[in-house]
Amino acid sequence: MYTATNILVCEQDEAYTVLNRYNPKTHTFEGEYSLLHNAYSQNSYFLSRFLMDHRGHSLMLIDSEDERYFHIRRTYRHEREEDIERYMEEQSEQRKEEENDLTAKQSIGQLQLLVVKKMIEQQRESIQNQESHTERDTYVLLGQDFAYGWSVNTINRIVDFGNIS
Ligand SMILES: [Zn+2]
Repeated sequence: MYTATNILVCEQDEAYTVLNRYNPKTHTFEGEYSLLHNAYSQNSYFLSRFLMDHRGHSLMLIDSEDERYFHIRRTYRHEREEDIERYMEEQSEQRKEEENDLTAKQSIGQLQLLVVKKMIEQQRESIQNQESHTERDTYVLLGQDFAYGWSVNTINRIVDFGNIS
């Protein structure tokens, strides 16, 4: 079943939509294939459109092992075939936009972290310049210095990790 190409056929209208291979792991079809993008739609857009357009009609799912398959592909109408490239183009544009958005958000996030780091470093510097008059003061200042140092190191690690990925 996995290697066979599936089509959903409406006999009444002599039309079909191509579902391509069925993935038993995700329980989804590959969807219509775009030559231009060398990719499958990987969603149910064309399937859903077909189901809606043929409400109330008897539909038949057949695969390329079926003897009727090639006859149907030759003689029936491949529904919305002319929409495939345009749809895939839109999908790919949308994906690019989402990736750009994500990159922009990540850069803003990094910038915010660097601003926070600068603020912590300034705090740490002022602690380090403070004179302590008692032993207790010294411990408090050392503790604060340690906490600020830990925060700066943590931010450095996060920023480095972001740069790698
Ligand atoms: Zn129909």
